[in-house]
Amino acid sequence: MQLSATERKIIENSIRDIKDFPKPGIIFKDITTLLNDKQAYGVLMNHLYQKYKSYNLDYVAGIDARGFIFGAALAQMLGIGFVPIRKKGKLPYTTISEKYALEYGVDEIEVHLDAFSGIQDAKVLLIDDLIATGGTANAAAKLIHQAGATCVEACFVIGLSFLDGIATLKETTEVYTLVEVN
Ligand code: AMP
Repeated sequence: MQLSATERKIIENSIRDIKDFPKPGIIFKDITTLLNDKQAYGVLMNHLYQKYKSYNLDYVAGIDARGFIFGAALAQMLGIGFVPIRKKGKLPYTTISEKYALEYGVDEIEVHLDAFSGIQDAKVLLIDDLIATGGTANAAAKLIHQAGATCVEACFVIGLSFLDGIATLKETTEVYTLVEVN
């Protein structure tokens, strides 16, 4: 299920670049303009639905916070459950957590221990808006595994292909990106 060149352009054109946010030297890919654009958001969600409807997925897991927007909508379209993978301290029930390296320091994400327990050997699609270094997505894929499920693919609207995040994550799971930034 390929994204056509026209569809890719519609999605690309709807993403806004914000220079020097949140700090100098970073070009922040702002997807609020994509969400605001009903054609682009529609093209994106329809493509994801058409691509993943044959995967026999059991859950979509979204990464805090922009992964929730795409992930929850996709899970509903596919008729399956959604699992939030959250920043530390936000989930109320028993969690398992995974630390990952940032440019300076470490961060931590968590998932509920029983998030995938409703279905044995659950097949999970991981989703986020963007992959940069891949630290967050790698930690999320580990959490899915630790929670007893299989991460069959990780999907990102945007991939920063000048970093090695995509290549590193490919050692763990299949990776799909709609728009690549070189
Ligand atoms: P990483 O762990 O380095 O792959 O970073 C991915 C996470 O940070 C995702 O949740 C993104 O939303 C966010 N992120 C990193 N870099 C950017 C960027 N240039 N523009 C927008 N979001 C970013």
